[in-house]
Amino acid sequence: LETRKREILAEADASGVKFLRLQFTDILGVIKNVEVPDRQFATALDGKVMFDGSSIEGFVRIEESDMFLTPDLSTFRIFPWTDPSGEKVARLICDITNPDGTSFAGCPRQTLKRAIEQAGSRGFSMSAGPEAEFFLFQTRDEEPTTETHDAAGYFDLTPVDQGEDVRRQIVLMLEQMGFEVEASHHEAAWGQHEIDFRHDDVLTAADNVSTFRFVVKNVARRNGVHATFMPKPVFGVNGSGMHTHQSLLRDGVNAFHDADGPFELSRICMNYIGGLLQHAEAFCAITNPLVNSYKRLVPGYEAPTHIAWSERNRSPLIRIPATRGASTRIELRMPDPSCNPYLAFAAMLRAGLDGIDNDLDPGAPVSKNIYKMSQRERRSLRIDELPQNLDAALDQLERSALMRDTLGDHIFEHFIEAKRREWFEYLQQVSAWEIGRYLKVY
Ligand code: GLN
Ligand code: MG
Ligand code: MG
Ligand code: MG
Repeated sequence: LETRKREILAEADASGVKFLRLQFTDILGVIKNVEVPDRQFATALDGKVMFDGSSIEGFVRIEESDMFLTPDLSTFRIFPWTDPSGEKVARLICDITNPDGTSFAGCPRQTLKRAIEQAGSRGFSMSAGPEAEFFLFQTRDEEPTTETHDAAGYFDLTPVDQGEDVRRQIVLMLEQMGFEVEASHHEAAWGQHEIDFRHDDVLTAADNVSTFRFVVKNVARRNGVHATFMPKPVFGVNGSGMHTHQSLLRDGVNAFHDADGPFELSRICMNYIGGLLQHAEAFCAITNPLVNSYKRLVPGYEAPTHIAWSERNRSPLIRIPATRGASTRIELRMPDPSCNPYLAFAAMLRAGLDGIDNDLDPGAPVSKNIYKMSQRERRSLRIDELPQNLDAALDQLERSALMRDTLGDHIFEHFIEAKRREWFEYLQQVSAWEIGRYLKVY
C-alpha cells in the first residue's frame, strides 16, 4: 500500500499534476468531487481528506455531516487534458467513510462491494459490460438544445454523420484514460451514439460507467456540443439505453456456459435469468430512475416493455448473445444510462443470486416479437409488464425485501424519498401534450 502511494506521488510529480479530484457518486448517481492541490496529495492518499456530507443530496442529516474520502488507489488516472489554466488534473475514485473508520451507509460504491461479497461467499464473481447510449445535441448561447445537425442512422458513414468526429475524440480520450474501447457506432436516432468498452469485473465496470459519462460530456463540451444520457430526450425516436451484458465466473471459469445444457446455458445461468425476471419490477426504479426513463420503455423503439427472456429476439428484457464458451453471457436491456451504476449493478447481481439461491426457473424463452402479441397471447404466456411510470416502479421497489437488503436501509429510504419528491413535482406540471390535446376541445 505504502509503495503504491509512493508510486502515485512520483507519477503525479513527474507528470506535473497540480490537482487531484477525489471522486465519488451520490445516491442519485451524480459524480461529485473534492479537489485538492498538490501539497495535499499525500494527505488525500492516506484517506484523511474530510468533506461536509450534508451538502450532498440524499447523503446525511446535518448533525452527522463529517465524512472521509478513502481512495481506491487502483483508480488513479491522469486526465488526458489540461484545465483552462493549462494545469494537469488527476483523479481517484473514493469510498466514503465515517469519522470512526466504518463505511458510510450512504455510499453506493460500498453497496456494490457488499453485493460482490455476497456473490463471493457463493464462489462467484460478476463480470459486466455496459453499453451506454447517448445523444450529441447542438448548443445555442451555451445552452443545450435537442437539435442535431446530423441525418445519420444506425451505422451510417460520413459525411452525414457530424457527430462522428466528436465521437472519435471521445474514444481517443477514453483510451488515454485506460479504457479498452471495443466498438463505437452511430445509433438508430439522429444524433445518437454508442461506445462499447470491454467488460470488466463489476466494480470496475461501475467505476467505468461514471468515468465514461464524465469523459463523454467533457469532450462534447470542448467541441461545442452537448452530450446527454437522458433516457428519452426526443419524442418519436429511440431513447438511450444502457444494456448490460453480464455473467458469473467461478474459479475464473464462465459459470453460465454448459455445453450440455439447454441453449448451451448452465443451470446457474437459467436461475440467474429467473432471478432477474422475478425481481425486474422491484429493481426497475433503480435501473430506470427518472420520470423520463419510462418514456423510453414503450413499444416500438427497441426498448423492453415486458418481462421475458429470449434466446435471440431483441424485444424482450433479456437477450442471450449468440456467443458461447468463455464469453457466454446474458444481456439485460432495461437499464438506462441515467442510473447510478453502483446501485444498478448491485441490484442486478443480487436479483440473479436470489434466482440461484431459490432455483428460480425463467420459463421458456419467447421467440416472437412481444410488441406484436395481443394482450391475450401475452397473458397466456404469463408475460408481465414492466412498471409504466416512476410512481409504479417505486411502489414495487418499496415492497421488495431483497432490494431493501441490497441497498441497505439508508440508501433504500433516501432513494425512495428523493424519487417520490421528483414524481410529485412532475405530477403537478401541465405538459405541452395536454395543451395540444385539451385546450381547444374543452
Ligand atoms: N436505443 C435502444 C434502447 O433504448 C437500443 C438500441 C440497440 O442497441 N439495439 O434500448
Ligand atoms: Mg450495442
Ligand atoms: Mg445500442
Ligand atoms: Mg445491446
